[in-house]
Amino acid sequence: MMLTKQFFGRHSYPAPSKLSSVFVDLWCHSVVAARLELCRRSASPVCASQILQVDTMAPSLKGLPVAVIGAGVSGCVCASTLADRGIPVTLFDMGRGPGGRLSQRRETTDGGKELLFDHGAQYFSVRFPEVQKLVDRWLASGLVKEWKGKFGSYDRVKMAFQDETFEDDQPKYVGVPGMNSMCKAMSRQPGVKTAFSTTVATFKWKEEGTGGIWHLGSKTGEDLGAFRAVVVADKGLASERFTVLTGLPPPLEKAGVPTLYEKLANIKSVSVFVVMVAFAEALTSVPFDRFTIERSNFLAGAVRVSSKPGREVADRSECWVLHSTVYYADEITKKEGFAKPSSASLHEIANTLFKEFQEIVPEATTPLFIKAHRWGSAFPMQAAAPEEHCLVESGRKLVACGDYCVGPRIECAILSGLTAARKIHHLLDSAGAKI
Ligand SMILES: Cc1cc2nc3c(=O)[nH]c(=O)nc-3n(C[C@H](O)[C@H](O)[C@H](O)COP(=O)(O)OP(=O)(O)OC[C@H]3O[C@@H](n4cnc5c(N)ncnc54)[C@H](O)[C@@H]3O)c2cc1C
Repeated sequence: MMLTKQFFGRHSYPAPSKLSSVFVDLWCHSVVAARLELCRRSASPVCASQILQVDTMAPSLKGLPVAVIGAGVSGCVCASTLADRGIPVTLFDMGRGPGGRLSQRRETTDGGKELLFDHGAQYFSVRFPEVQKLVDRWLASGLVKEWKGKFGSYDRVKMAFQDETFEDDQPKYVGVPGMNSMCKAMSRQPGVKTAFSTTVATFKWKEEGTGGIWHLGSKTGEDLGAFRAVVVADKGLASERFTVLTGLPPPLEKAGVPTLYEKLANIKSVSVFVVMVAFAEALTSVPFDRFTIERSNFLAGAVRVSSKPGREVADRSECWVLHSTVYYADEITKKEGFAKPSSASLHEIANTLFKEFQEIVPEATTPLFIKAHRWGSAFPMQAAAPEEHCLVESGRKLVACGDYCVGPRIECAILSGLTAARKIHHLLDSAGAKI
């Protein structure tokens, strides 16, 4: 089975570096394909309607929620599945809302026109039956729709559009009206309490009788409460980038889970830039709604966001998202480091990438709006738990999940979140039995 190509900027030119797009692409298409096949065979379904109460807890722990840190799709799926099973959850995210890399950005032009961009992931397809069950529920409730956009590619050297030759025939799903719609719904579900704009920075484990509880703290020193178990839904909690961005040690470093910390810290990611760009008139010369770009140093692909269901506009304007190659992002990072890029730097990046787009689409003249964004940790380069789908520290009732466990795709993050919920439920059940 072929995997749909993601925007990693294949065939970067000249020869790519260590974090090159070709490497990521090879990894995606061969290793991950094999792993996905393995994972699919080993996956056992979680029945969402199976409501199981964990009522064997010691009275002191019984009322405590489970903390899920990270409201990306893996964390939201985990939180929602636990809540479905009668386990209260507090869902933390440092961002202003749920979605993580499935975010949607609302921007306004100088003339006051409102624009919506999916500036992270663009769509997903599903191969795991367990994930499909959940997606079927989202389809039934209108949170997700199939995107029947036309997919293709452009060869920068031949300077020609061409039909995509190795697309698979899986349906391509998008969140409606934004990629984060499912995350929003899951985070508002009964049993899920949310704490956004909250960066979890410290973990303290305290023994309680024969069990134990976690105390979490924020980066500003605030006590975030006590929890009977914790799900870490982002490997960033073990990353040196946390220190670059906050000046604090990675939260998991001193949590007393050295093996898990090492595993997460060793997973490397690649960065990419995206450019959100809007035009007053539709780009009619482009035969595709999403195309990959071959043999460009700068751009890996482009998406006509307005062609997705739920993003229709009354006039003829269009929103596009352009994705940089990993090679280009790597060159910028070498110059500027991991710190948040300045507005001047983002402005220059937007102009460089847009210029390349204009070489491909001369019809794309003065945009109504243009802005660049960096995804510092866009795609994990290894899978930490390709068969188990999440990492478990049973003694500390701590589970780590996210796409980095299985593969750099939405469905892998969903699978990891579902498995993490099942593991937590099991840990609480057995902990309860012992107390
Ligand atoms: C530009 C781009 C394009 C992509 N395109 C596609 C695509 O077309 N199809 C596809 O399948 N996949 C695509 N992906 C990959 C996909 O987005 C990811 O695989 C998926 O969204 C990962 O979900 P997650 O829950 O594992 O992680 P995330 O979405 O990254 O969620 C982790 C969350 O944890 C939060 N967090 C981290 N540390 C802390 C802390 N200390 N305290 C509180 N909160 C914290 C973060 O703010 C974040 O919201 C793309 C990714 C990018 C960046």
